[in-house]
Amino acid sequence: MHPTDVIAKKRDGGELSQEEIEFFIRGYVQGEILDYQAAAWLMAVYLNGMTDRETHDLTMAMAQSGDILDLKDIVPFAVDKHSTGGVGDKVSLVVAPLVAACGVPVAKMTGHGLGFSGGTVDKLESIPGYRADLSEAEFQAQLKEINIVLTGQSADLAPADRKLYALRDVTATVESLPLIISSVMSKKLAAGTDAIVLDVKMGSGAFMKTLEDAEVLAETMVRMGQLAGRKVVALISDMNQPLGWAVGNAIEVREAINTLHEGGPADFQEHCMVVAAEMLLLAGKASDTNAALTLALETLSSGAAWNKFKELVQAQGGNVRAIEEPKRLPQARLIKPVPAPRSGYLAGLDAAEVGMAVVGLGGGREKKGDPIDHSVGVIVHYKVGDLVQKDTPLFTIHANDRARMEATEERVLAAHAFSDIPVQRLPRFYRRIAE
Ligand code: URA
Repeated sequence: MHPTDVIAKKRDGGELSQEEIEFFIRGYVQGEILDYQAAAWLMAVYLNGMTDRETHDLTMAMAQSGDILDLKDIVPFAVDKHSTGGVGDKVSLVVAPLVAACGVPVAKMTGHGLGFSGGTVDKLESIPGYRADLSEAEFQAQLKEINIVLTGQSADLAPADRKLYALRDVTATVESLPLIISSVMSKKLAAGTDAIVLDVKMGSGAFMKTLEDAEVLAETMVRMGQLAGRKVVALISDMNQPLGWAVGNAIEVREAINTLHEGGPADFQEHCMVVAAEMLLLAGKASDTNAALTLALETLSSGAAWNKFKELVQAQGGNVRAIEEPKRLPQARLIKPVPAPRSGYLAGLDAAEVGMAVVGLGGGREKKGDPIDHSVGVIVHYKVGDLVQKDTPLFTIHANDRARMEATEERVLAAHAFSDIPVQRLPRFYRRIAE
């Protein structure tokens, strides 16, 4: 079999066999198939899609490209959550320690930023010293010891996703159902948790722009997880505007820290409570949604979630003083509040544009392996439906370069749309899919 045959078959709209998919994934992981060949194949998949059978085979080939953890000997029941990618999505930083603080082991393997969407690994790496490259043995040992682990993909677990994910980020091949499904589910299956909550984002700042696409994504992932013997629930949530206020790496960590002290933005805190409640329900920690929400809120307000976050940071080599005194986190040199050009109701705030503006500031990657600037970002000050007063700060830019700051100002201003008449607020969640 030759890589070019597999690429050509997909390019011409053919259906790849399980053997062809396994050959391609194995060859890419072993370095026999090169980045430019994988990039061509990704684009062919992006343009021509995959059947359900191909998507399933791709997911399994990617999951089996490394070890598949069995956590049974480590903890009795472990949960995980995963977002399909959004703007200002720092939910894992709050929810993982909160659920672990309720006595439920949380084992999470997470990713870097992808296109306009931020990545939990990049956010965590803005904490000086934080190691997001734990080995499989370290992953298991930490889970056993402190009930929580939040790391990037190791070389041993789903290495195919690690390589393909980085390549998709820089080849405009992210927004593809089979590629997203296989990326998310291969990691989840390899990490070996018993239950998974999927936060499927829908809207301008998500890879799925319509409810229909988000439903297909959510339903397929739930089905795939359940077939593999896992408990899976998907929530379809809104991503037409950034989640919370902060979009960037260190500034999102600060917002998560505020939230762990009950001081974060209301939409973000509510989102975290709903996701945490689903994880607690799957773990059998509460009998119904109300009881799970109450437990989540109590764990936040008692400080237990914050203490767990500190324990996590310490265990993974991060500087705990930097989170206790967040001014020690990376800070941009230039901070510019940008005034509203007019008064009116905020009618739209294009989340993808805000995400891309942050990439433009250096907060995300334009080329594979690019270093990122953890300190930069944008803080938005209004939500859709809010009444904005002319000349009050509309958003604030954190930048390290004047030219990039000016380009960001223009781009983020254009991402705001105004109306003279009242505008309905956006819903936070659209659907829950459990089977
Ligand atoms: N999250 C992932 O892990 N993979 C994707 O493709 C998108 C979001």
